[in-house]
Amino acid sequence: MSKQPVKESFVKEITPRSQDFSAWYVDVVLKAELADYSPVKGCMVIRPYGYAVWELIQQALDSRIKATGHVNAYFPLFIPNSLLTKEAEHVEGFAPQVAYVTHGGGEELEEKLVVRPTSEAIIGTMYAKWVQSWRDLPILINQWANVVRWEKKTYPFLRTTEFLWQEGHTAHETEKEAEDETLKILDLYAEVCEVVLGMPVVKGRKTESEKFAGALRTYSIEALMGDGRALQAGTSHNLGQNFAKAFDITFQSRDKTVEHVWGTSWGVTTRLVGGVIMVHGDDSGLVLPPAVAPYQVVVVPIGRDNWRETVLPTALEIQAQLRAAGVRVTLDEREERPGWKFAEWEMRGVPLRLELGPKDIEKSAVMIARRDTREKQSLPMAGLAEKVRSLLDEIQKNLFDRAIAFRDEHTQRVATYAEFKAIMEGRPGFVIAPWCGTAECEAQIKAETQATIRNMPLDSAKPGGTCIRCDKPATAEAWFAKAY
Ligand SMILES: [Zn+2]
Repeated sequence: MSKQPVKESFVKEITPRSQDFSAWYVDVVLKAELADYSPVKGCMVIRPYGYAVWELIQQALDSRIKATGHVNAYFPLFIPNSLLTKEAEHVEGFAPQVAYVTHGGGEELEEKLVVRPTSEAIIGTMYAKWVQSWRDLPILINQWANVVRWEKKTYPFLRTTEFLWQEGHTAHETEKEAEDETLKILDLYAEVCEVVLGMPVVKGRKTESEKFAGALRTYSIEALMGDGRALQAGTSHNLGQNFAKAFDITFQSRDKTVEHVWGTSWGVTTRLVGGVIMVHGDDSGLVLPPAVAPYQVVVVPIGRDNWRETVLPTALEIQAQLRAAGVRVTLDEREERPGWKFAEWEMRGVPLRLELGPKDIEKSAVMIARRDTREKQSLPMAGLAEKVRSLLDEIQKNLFDRAIAFRDEHTQRVATYAEFKAIMEGRPGFVIAPWCGTAECEAQIKAETQATIRNMPLDSAKPGGTCIRCDKPATAEAWFAKAY
């Protein structure tokens, strides 16, 4: 009991989000025990609670990736340096971030090995071996893996030197098939973000200067975080025939000519965990959408010293009942005060708290509290599981609706550079503006305002008017934001 005051202040120690967003973010990551710093600079340890969130995201993605005809495989962590250098743009794009292994088994290696920053090079090499005829196509392979990109400035989940992801790599007979695949995956990612993570996204094409090194076209999904900055939540690349030419992936076509395959690659990462934190969290900490909450319900027994005799048996029954209904539930049996437990689970973002005391048991009821709205209500024990499930659905929907409303409030359309600069200096968010399509204007705007073009939405109308910066006719309507 003497330890209690220390623990209590621990829960309250979170910097309010409204006061300092990035301090709040780091506090939540550490104190909700999602991740911790490691002895390796720029690398983090994903703790069990954070890993459980990632596993739920993984499952949601993996089932959809498989349902669209893809299969999982695994390729090596190391790539011979000579392979990475085969695609010129690719190697140039990744060069500053590459980590090398130069020694092994106590000897200097004849050829240094790259620790994969992405796997196009090794997978392309294998595809060249596996593909002979159009009958071998398409190849639809995904892998779950870690990759390493040397980062100067890191931030838990959002940017770390080593991170976890899935990377899909496909090969097709025609350009159209590759483009269809690229967009199909973009839709798949958007669905997972919106339906599972409750995180609305804008689907669009990246500019030439922001596309993946070596790709023909890159598409992204972009989400708005609680501080008004954008997060690139996933990318899908149409590689054209660039990698096929570099790695000599050819096939005999239906009309017996030899052709290069059309490729795609696509990925989302543990960064999505950071997105969930920053989209939904509040001053009290994490707010998890039920679909990715390791515990959807926490049962907290309330009572005097003899609660283990008076309350615990019913609490265990309720836990069993909810578990049987497919609800992820934990029962907090620790000796801490109920108020302390409330604060802790609130900080860790559990969607529903179920309080159970002797008086509730007398009435055959439980008290239930929602994390998203903080509403409390007494519910009869009869039919509890069904009611809990419908509350979880309501919370899932409410979080998404809230995030959409926030994004809409923080998205503005401008016609002049003066308006654009005023917004970027003041209230952050997305700014939609006409752009001439040149890299010069894009770079100038970035240098002057720190805002980048996040993407150009697929469904946006043909822009009227002139580029906000140079007054030449606009060729695209671009979504700008300051980004992570
Ligand atoms: Zn311009």
